[in-house]
Amino acid sequence: MPVSALKPGKCKACGSPDIRTFLDLGPVPPVNAFLKADQAASEKAYRLEMVLCDGCFLAQLRDVVDPDELFRNYLHISSASAANIRHLEEVAALVKSRFKVGESTRILEIGSNDGTLLAMFRDRTGRLLGVDPAENLVEISRLSGVETIPDFLYERTARRIRDERGEYDIILALNIVPHTPDVVELLRGVRHVMAPTGTFIMEGVYVLETITRGEFDTIYHEHVYCFSLHSLISTFARAGLAVVDAEKIPTQGGSLRVYAQKTDYGPEISPRVALMLREEKEKGLIDTRAFANVGGKVLSFRRELLEKIDGLREKHGKLVGLGAPARGVVIMNYCGIGADRLKYIVDDTSLKQGRLSPGTHVQVEPWDKLKTDPAAAFLLLSWNYEKDMLEKLRRFVPKASVIVPFPDLKVIEFVP
Ligand SMILES: [Zn+2]
Repeated sequence: MPVSALKPGKCKACGSPDIRTFLDLGPVPPVNAFLKADQAASEKAYRLEMVLCDGCFLAQLRDVVDPDELFRNYLHISSASAANIRHLEEVAALVKSRFKVGESTRILEIGSNDGTLLAMFRDRTGRLLGVDPAENLVEISRLSGVETIPDFLYERTARRIRDERGEYDIILALNIVPHTPDVVELLRGVRHVMAPTGTFIMEGVYVLETITRGEFDTIYHEHVYCFSLHSLISTFARAGLAVVDAEKIPTQGGSLRVYAQKTDYGPEISPRVALMLREEKEKGLIDTRAFANVGGKVLSFRRELLEKIDGLREKHGKLVGLGAPARGVVIMNYCGIGADRLKYIVDDTSLKQGRLSPGTHVQVEPWDKLKTDPAAAFLLLSWNYEKDMLEKLRRFVPKASVIVPFPDLKVIEFVP
């Protein structure tokens, strides 16, 4: 990835030098790099500072970490969570019906992870290809029979795919576009492998909740960008892609799902696009003032969360963290929640178990740990899966106090 080609001090999408800081979360280590005990001493952290571009209103990290460091050995696995599989099933069903997927349909997924989503199309078509830089996952994907190229979708990768395999009718990228520093190059690659009337479908965290509610926990090194529809349309246009439809979805506490086609074939634009743009204008997403308020919201969230944690710790002893997602790692690091407040974290991902949380060094354990080392107070770190997580917790403890950080900070009391 030509990170060095991006000019420091300029907007990474439009090149404008008018960028200004609106949120600084301080130094945080890569949030998916769970550590073995002997790695803790040599851990590296990088500043998480968000800037807004006055030219295209794209919120972005000031400095990016080399994607090779973040994504080559990736511990987030698509098939690890039941809720995530359910989401991928919804996406597959939607794409199958909206695009009448049949045996001639060619589908490419960028960031295909372990191949879970692509495998869901096998009942309709065998013309499937994944691209993912995580070498550890590509092997898992191959074993499950989904062909995967272990790389980023650089323009050269796109050229090679097109030369060797032709063009694709449907190109999927869930939570990939906001992760790619040279986003315009990625989108040019997408355009390159796309059939003339093909469609690109992407999902990514929506800037709306970050700005209006101060939900800062989707800000981490992997998320270089936090798009509004406004900024996304202007970024796509730089690669010759037109946004033809868009919708808000609840994934990750609030995401955008966007459909794009090549601009040259006069694509028809859904009226939903204009409606969303109007809403963004009304909510201040195309205005620097709304962004200027985010820092204050985030500071008061930290103060209130620590008060709640320390109140419960006094009553019940140390808390247990529920889930070890990237967003939870951001909350823990920014708020200073370490082993003095959490005795351990439970998480289903076997690759995280037995390791320490990045930055704060709290041990991750399987859920069964609650049977041998019980607790009465919990911090829900996977708050976007609140319902699933609380149902699961009920199977392990009859009575508990659970802090839910977002969308509204609260404490839930379980009674037997
Ligand atoms: Zn810009």
